[in-house]
Amino acid sequence: MKMFVGGRWQGSPEEIDVVAPYSGSVVDRIPLATAAQVEEALSTAQRGAAIMRRLPGATRAEVLRRAADLLDADAEDVARTISLETGKPISEARGEAGRLGDMFRLASFEGTQVRGETLPLDAQPGAEGKLGFTLRIPTGVVVAITPYNYPGLLVVHKIAPALAAGNAVILKPASQAPLTALAITARLIEAGLPEPALQTITGGGRRVGMPLVRDPRVRKVSFTGSTRVGEEITRVAGIKRLSLELGANCPMVVMPDCDFEVAAAASAAGGYVNAGQVCISLQRVIVHEAVYEDYLDALRGPVAAIRMGDPLVEDTKISSMISEDEAARVEDWIDEAVAAGARVIIGGERDGARLAPTVVADVEPGMKLSDQEVFGPTLGVTKAENVDHAIALANDSSYGLGAGIFTRDINHAMRFVREVDAGNVHVNWTPLWRADLMPYGGLKGSGIGKEGIRYAVEEMTEMKTVVIHGLDR
Ligand code: NAD
Repeated sequence: MKMFVGGRWQGSPEEIDVVAPYSGSVVDRIPLATAAQVEEALSTAQRGAAIMRRLPGATRAEVLRRAADLLDADAEDVARTISLETGKPISEARGEAGRLGDMFRLASFEGTQVRGETLPLDAQPGAEGKLGFTLRIPTGVVVAITPYNYPGLLVVHKIAPALAAGNAVILKPASQAPLTALAITARLIEAGLPEPALQTITGGGRRVGMPLVRDPRVRKVSFTGSTRVGEEITRVAGIKRLSLELGANCPMVVMPDCDFEVAAAASAAGGYVNAGQVCISLQRVIVHEAVYEDYLDALRGPVAAIRMGDPLVEDTKISSMISEDEAARVEDWIDEAVAAGARVIIGGERDGARLAPTVVADVEPGMKLSDQEVFGPTLGVTKAENVDHAIALANDSSYGLGAGIFTRDINHAMRFVREVDAGNVHVNWTPLWRADLMPYGGLKGSGIGKEGIRYAVEEMTEMKTVVIHGLDR
């Protein structure tokens, strides 16, 4: 597979394998971009930005709608690519591929809704007779850097609003799963996007990502990935706009007044979709002591029913993690918790990159399963004495992306919504829920800024203030 740089598909002297995590077989090879190719991407993007800012909104919208239709027509192929390169079950990959067209359609609309406002300048003495208003303008060159876990969805959450708003984009997808991004790029070019407006460059974070982040020709970096890399980006970016969608260890509180069978069934989805490799995966379940053992009992059945296997087999619900190293890391964290007094209720077995859906009870702050981001198919369950204790435990984290509570008590729900520091808070569901139009982004170490198409369009435009001075007064 070639990358799309400088308006053409090109290879590179060095390549790396893209490996299917489940089978270990090589799916394809991708170029590792050279320094000269990074430079070509940057200079082309500058030309692209000049073209895009002059392209009328209606034309941009039409191109995005055409790309949406092409992606819908090829959704099954795109789903297979997603499943192969990530190990994600095909049913989930179809869900992801099926959303991409609609996201481009939503962006095509939101890109035509960018508005400024008039300014009441005459409210300040001495400013009478002037006309003031704001214009929102494209930021220019946007660098979009994406992780492996949703190689279609998270790419489109960046490039669709960026292009809709009239920017040029350099996309650097994750090296483990770059093929979906290249497939989306091909559909956009086929749809008539000016070639310099989008470049998809492949290679590692240090060699390709970093020089892009550093470069002063780039006005905006939109990054989704780990908090560690997000911090590195803040240190080197210089004067740029940053959107950072980072890590998390999302909590959910279970109160005794809820139907804990429903809460348990929801947990069995929220903790294990995409083998727990979702930034809003449910990781920490905080259960009121009155229903602690009942909740654990109720969880066993739904977790045991999660079918493990080949991602391309229709009824597989969980497959391998992205790599054996990642699965071994999560296994180590489970062992560490058990050594410190936690109990494995179900799961815990590992075979290479495949880790069985696992529930660990009696997890406490101080254990990695509680303090760090697991990003694997493991729920840690912690006992709380009352709602105050539960809220304190939920907030006992350096992250703040998603959170949920199951309760029928409106007062508990209101306290949770107000007091838990997370960007997305759910009442009567797990944190693992997202609509593409809603504002989405973390507090604390989970990041800066919001995605969700309308909000990303806003972040990918800048405000210019215009004052017209009447000279005939
Ligand atoms: P990662 O941080 O290792 O890599 C993400 C991307 O950054 C990749 O394209 C990688 O090549 C690039 N990169 C790595 N080092 C870089 C550097 N020094 N400079 C520039 N780019 C660099 O993340 P990952 O392992 O691919 O994904 C998992 C992480 O992503 C988890 O922490 C997860 O929570 C997070 N994530 C967050 C969200 C969100 O919306 N908040 C969504 C999905 C994933």
